[in-house]
Amino acid sequence: MGTVLLVLSALAIAVVIAWLGITALRAASGPGPRGRVEPEDVEELDVYLVCGECGTELRITRLGELQVPRHCGEPMRLERRSREA
Ligand SMILES: [Zn+2]
Repeated sequence: MGTVLLVLSALAIAVVIAWLGITALRAASGPGPRGRVEPEDVEELDVYLVCGECGTELRITRLGELQVPRHCGEPMRLERRSREA
């Protein structure tokens, strides 16, 4: 029984990693012109808003209909970091 759970966990982690890669590629290919992000559940991830100018980081747990805030006159960058188990 425990082994089945382990395999399922490994599969889930693999899916999350693949999803992260796809999302990163999408983000790199072009940020939305309106500076908005799609509603997503990010409770399983560490997501930060990072200011490209001064490096200020804000950790957020839910994107929702979040409007990306500005810092130093520039929209902050969304950064996802997988949480180490
Ligand atoms: Zn700043």
